[in-house]
Amino acid sequence: MTRTHCPYCALQCAMHVEPAPGGRWAARPADFPVNRGGLCRKGWTAAELLTHPDRLTAPLLRTDRTAELRPVDWDTALDHVAGRLRALRADHGPDAVGVFGSGGLTNEKSYLLGKFARLALGTSRIDYNGRFCMSSAAAAGNRAFGLDRGLPFPVTDLSGAEAVLLAGANPAETMPPLMGHLSAPRLIVVDPRRTATAQAALDAGGIHLAPRPGTDTALALGLLHAARAQGLADEDYIRARTTGFETAWEQAVPWWPEHAEQVTGVGAHLVRDAARALGEAARGQGAYVLTGRGAEQHAKGTDTASAWINLALALGLPGRRGSGYGCLTGQGNGQGGREHGQKADQLPGYRKITDPAAREHVAAVWGVDPADIPGPGISAYELLEVLGAPGGPRALLVFGSNPAVSVPAAARVRDRLAATDLLVVADFVLSETAALADVVLPVAQWAEEEGTMTNLEGRVLRRRKALDPPPGVRTDLEVIAGLAARLGRPAREFPADAGTVLAELRAATAGAPADYSGITPERLEAGEALHWPAPAGRTPGGPPAPATPRLFLEGFAHPDGRARFTPVAHRPPAEQPGEGFPLVLTTGRTMGHYQSGAQTRRIGELAEAEPGAWVEVHPDTAAEHGLSARGWARLTSRRGTMLARVRLRRTARRDTVFAPFHYGGAQTANDLTNPALDPVSRMPEFKVAAVRIEPAPPP
Ligand code: SF4
Repeated sequence: MTRTHCPYCALQCAMHVEPAPGGRWAARPADFPVNRGGLCRKGWTAAELLTHPDRLTAPLLRTDRTAELRPVDWDTALDHVAGRLRALRADHGPDAVGVFGSGGLTNEKSYLLGKFARLALGTSRIDYNGRFCMSSAAAAGNRAFGLDRGLPFPVTDLSGAEAVLLAGANPAETMPPLMGHLSAPRLIVVDPRRTATAQAALDAGGIHLAPRPGTDTALALGLLHAARAQGLADEDYIRARTTGFETAWEQAVPWWPEHAEQVTGVGAHLVRDAARALGEAARGQGAYVLTGRGAEQHAKGTDTASAWINLALALGLPGRRGSGYGCLTGQGNGQGGREHGQKADQLPGYRKITDPAAREHVAAVWGVDPADIPGPGISAYELLEVLGAPGGPRALLVFGSNPAVSVPAAARVRDRLAATDLLVVADFVLSETAALADVVLPVAQWAEEEGTMTNLEGRVLRRRKALDPPPGVRTDLEVIAGLAARLGRPAREFPADAGTVLAELRAATAGAPADYSGITPERLEAGEALHWPAPAGRTPGGPPAPATPRLFLEGFAHPDGRARFTPVAHRPPAEQPGEGFPLVLTTGRTMGHYQSGAQTRRIGELAEAEPGAWVEVHPDTAAEHGLSARGWARLTSRRGTMLARVRLRRTARRDTVFAPFHYGGAQTANDLTNPALDPVSRMPEFKVAAVRIEPAPPP
């Protein structure tokens, strides 16, 4: 029996992996403060994939896109990839190669992939799917606090609060064990849908605020207005610990709850009630404001996250014991994945790639000249959008991601993937993206390799190896090392051993905002709660400095120690319903599936429970559009179409339909979503697309 952590979401619930009858493996919950002995159904069934017949156990290669992928040996596959990469770089320059990473990769893989892109390939064109996850909250957190860590406090702190406001998060379905920490007497859920979380809040006497999709900024401004109008703003805190309140307040002045009601559809009395519940809790036992993808995945997601942070700051929550603001990171290593160099503009430890001191530090660890590290690249969607186009990458290496299903305007992106000269995908099953590739490299799964993950609290965890990968499978680190060697880099630069990579990562992040230098294997093994920053001790060989479960208690990370209000204004969504597209489509996750579904759609129990795409429609809307319960519907936006089974729900909005994004083929919800980008975070507008809906024959 091996203690490790779940392969899926950012809670990183602890689990034991052990052999089961018939040569299978099983996962059982383990004790850990985050999941307290619980797992969701995805966690319980996660081990099924370890022995799944769909596992790839040999590299696949085709030299002609019209041909079938055929099994080859590893040398043939890696020699082919390295040869093509060398040729493309020679003909078109280093930026002709792009790298697309993942918030599911371990810290070690994220680190080595960033180094591989910049040193072995010499390209600036690296970004990752976390750009589509919490990048807006990260940008807003940096703006407000000078540092972004999803939850700047342990999850367990939430249990003591008197009120928690969840903006655009549905943990009852996406992270069920988190609900055990949301026992606050007043739970306030902001979501256009009556989700399981919203229902739980209502059942417990809490509040559900259901704004029109895309109007969350206006709602947050309304709450700020209502809180101050009721005398609940913490004026002492604002004076002592923040700057910029007056300009931010000017933006909130016109947002009387009645005005907010006109724009958001949320009753003015509910706006006042929610503001009062939160404000009174802030003066009592404590309150939290938490955001999720519903608030963040918009073309104005950064400003919306800032609007919620402004509310939290006005109530005096951040940097206070028992209160705070946080973002519920989604992917398993959504936190660590964004810290170690996969992002187009970052070097390990959250160092800025444009900062000369940061470049110098990292270059010294890498043993290169700072000038050898390319400058900033372009964001994930922009990278995919220019694949194969003049000046864009002609080759793409994809690790741990399935962009053919998971990116907005996915049909368009599949065309771009097909326009490359070389597409290489490292995965353990033939995902929709792998099926388009020239080379597929079969890699190990979570329980088959060592590594560390950083969960949504910034707590670094050890993922332990429970079993060997199947014969013919390599780890991502071995793949990166093998390619780097073939591209002429010395073996010492790209070790394939997670422990060696972690040691280098610690050195690279020493003194950085996300400082891992004190996170030693011994401390991890001892189960210490290591929330970064966790610097090494000041005295060589002396005791390490304490880790930091709670950030900002003494001051914020801006040079003056104060948090910043950001003035934000409501803006309508990038696309409004209208002629030909009368409804809003919003998308999200469900209990049974994870991300693009490449893993969970292959797990019997989960596939049986949620076998295909569905669309949630109000009965009146269904009648208006000729739809019948459990019949099929075709949804169409300006970018594409999808098929889904109709689920009627009386609690749904009449102007909005909802579809999960876990399915591929003709049921790909992201074929419809809008790639309009946030100007700061470059987050696409996943949550609002104008669509029409009509009955369709079964596929
Ligand atoms: Fe895994 Fe997340 Fe479920 Fe926990 S809540 S078992 S981490 S998917």
